[in-house]
Formats: sequence, C-alpha cells, structure tokens
Amino acid sequence: MSGVVYPKLAVIGCGLIGSSVIRGARASGAVGEIAVADASPRARERIVALGLADSVTDDPAQAVRDADLVIFAVPVMAMGEAAKAAAPALKAGATISDVGSVKAAVADALAGAVSDDCFVIPGHPIAGTEQSGPDAGFAELFHNRWVILTPQVRTDAPYGEAVARLTAFWTALGSNVETMDASHHDLVLAVTSHLPHLIAYNIVGTAADLEEVTQAEVMKYSAGGFRDFTRIAASDPTMWRDVFLTNKDAVLDVLGRFTEDLQALSRAIRWGEGDKLFDLFSRTRAIRRGIIAAGQESAEPNFGRDHRPPEDADTKPQ
Ligand code: NAP
Repeated sequence: MSGVVYPKLAVIGCGLIGSSVIRGARASGAVGEIAVADASPRARERIVALGLADSVTDDPAQAVRDADLVIFAVPVMAMGEAAKAAAPALKAGATISDVGSVKAAVADALAGAVSDDCFVIPGHPIAGTEQSGPDAGFAELFHNRWVILTPQVRTDAPYGEAVARLTAFWTALGSNVETMDASHHDLVLAVTSHLPHLIAYNIVGTAADLEEVTQAEVMKYSAGGFRDFTRIAASDPTMWRDVFLTNKDAVLDVLGRFTEDLQALSRAIRWGEGDKLFDLFSRTRAIRRGIIAAGQESAEPNFGRDHRPPEDADTKPQ
C-alpha cells in the first residue's frame, strides 16, 4: 500500500475509466477524499449504489472544490465544456489532468479553460475495454499498463514537482509512466489504436451489410478472426466518434499509408506473389511475439470472470 499522494481527488465523468481510476486510487491508498461529477443521472445512481465516492453531483464546480487532483474522464469532445464548468471552483495549485484518448486537442481545451495558477498535465492510460459506465470499471485495469503524460513545455520547478506527483499517483495505481509531446502521442496512437478501431468498425459494418443468409454464417463461423473485430467494434460510439474527429490529421495520415500497403497486398495476391505474402506475415508474427514478450498482449489485464461486469452494466444510452 502506497501513501496518500493527493488528499482530495475529483473525477469528472465516472464511466469505465473514471471509475477504474477511483477504484485503483482507493485500493492503493493514493488519495483521501473522492468527489465525482457525472452528467448522467443513471451513472450517478450507480456510483452511489456502488459506494464509489464520498460525494456525487452533476456539477463539476462542486466536485472540484478543494481538490488537489482533478481528472477529467469524459469523452474527448466534452473535455472543454467540463473544464469550463469546473474552472471557477478550482483550487490554486491543483493538478488538472485527464484520461482522453487524444492529447493535442484536449491539452488545448484544458489550457484554454483553466487559470494559470493550476498545473495542467494531460494524460492517457493505454488501458481499457469495450465496456462503458461505472459498473464496468475495476481497480486492476491500469496494472502493468502505460500511462502517457503530455506535460506543457515549462521548466519551472513547481510544474516539474506537479508532474512528479502525478507520476507517483499513476505508479501507485500499478502503471508505468512515460512523458511525450502531445502531437507525437496522437500520431503513435493513430497507428496503435485509432486505425485498428476504424478497421474493426469497417469490417463489422461490411459484414452487417451482407445478405441475410451469409450474415448467419458470419456469426456461426466468427471464431475464424471476425470475433476479435466484433469485440473492438463494440466500443463506445460517442468516445470513438470524438477520437476520429479530434485526431483527424494523424488518422488520415496513417490511413493513407495503410491504404497504399493494402493495395500492394491485393496486387501480391492477384499476381500470386507468395514470397511477398510470406515475408509480411513472418514480420507481423515477430511483432506479435514482441508484444507478448513486453507483457502487453491483453487490453484487459486480469479481466477474468471476477471482473466481468453484469451484462446490463452499460449505462450508456446507445
Ligand atoms: P464512459 O464509460 O462512457 O463514461 C463517461 C461518463 O462521462 C458518462 O457517464 C458520461 O455521461 C459522462 N459525461 C459526459 N459528458 C460529461 C460532462 N460534460 N460532465 C460530466 N460528465 C460527463 O467513457 P469511458 O470509456 O470511461 O471514456 C472516458 C474517457 O477515457 C474518454 O475521453 C476516452 O477517450 C478515454 N479512454 C477510454 C478508454 C476505453 O477503453 N474506454 C481507454 C483509455 C482512455 P453520458 O453517458 O450521459 O454522456
């Protein structure tokens, strides 16, 4: 058990990620008091029923009062609005962070909303599941996962201390912490996360458009690879719409490159160039083995039966 890193934590938006932060913070003893603000009445009801926080409100300003660390865990395009609502009540010297999957747009939104006497340090835990809502969270979600912080370009000692303290917080939750420039983060994640989700949404959409008889077979034989795509394509529609709209340039950049490579593959198949296919498949197999060796093979660490939320846990209106 670690010591208290922040006496009071406020989480704005308490769905899968926000509630996992709270559970992890409680389990590690990294925080004292916990306040939550969430816009969804159903989520607030569940947060109270689960006993996740010391106080629950729909008003971000009320939740952040006296908080030493404020984490915005709302969809990316809601970050600015939530930060503006909280701003008048923020304590001078508080650390303001987030968990958004896109960093440059969120960094701008937070910095634009919050006064200079707070420390804005955007962040992104590279961990998640396709579930949503407070029931879906679990304390171990961040164990042995990377958290990328994208600090502002500042050299003053108090800001450096604030970054070190936020690093200690995430470390207490079991994460490994890396710092990175926000734009670089967005390019890296466009390749490793955003494009794979786009491909999954697209392939499942294509299958859904097939004739009915074929669709039944798609379901029946889904273990052939399709099933893994359906899990990714079940991810929250609001979250992913926001990711693509706010990381447009990087996603379009890697999508262009991907399309070129796909055309090259299609040509190799057409012309029977087995060597080309074999070489690529051998290289990709080595990448998979590297991921396993790095201990990052599952997006859902310890996500066994014990952690699986009830079927009706999704509090999102679809
Ligand atoms: P989630 O389960 O849908 O929870 C978000 C919660 O925030 C919902 O209860 C939502 O209410 C509420 N909310 C929306 N706008 C708000 C506002 N302005 N003020 C207060 N509450 C508000 O979402 P999540 O999956 O935890 O994702 C949260 C953030 O984490 C996103 O920025 C996402 O990019 C990032 N992230 C997600 C994952 C993942 O795997 N899911 C992984 C890493 C990072 P409504 O339902 O009424 O909108």
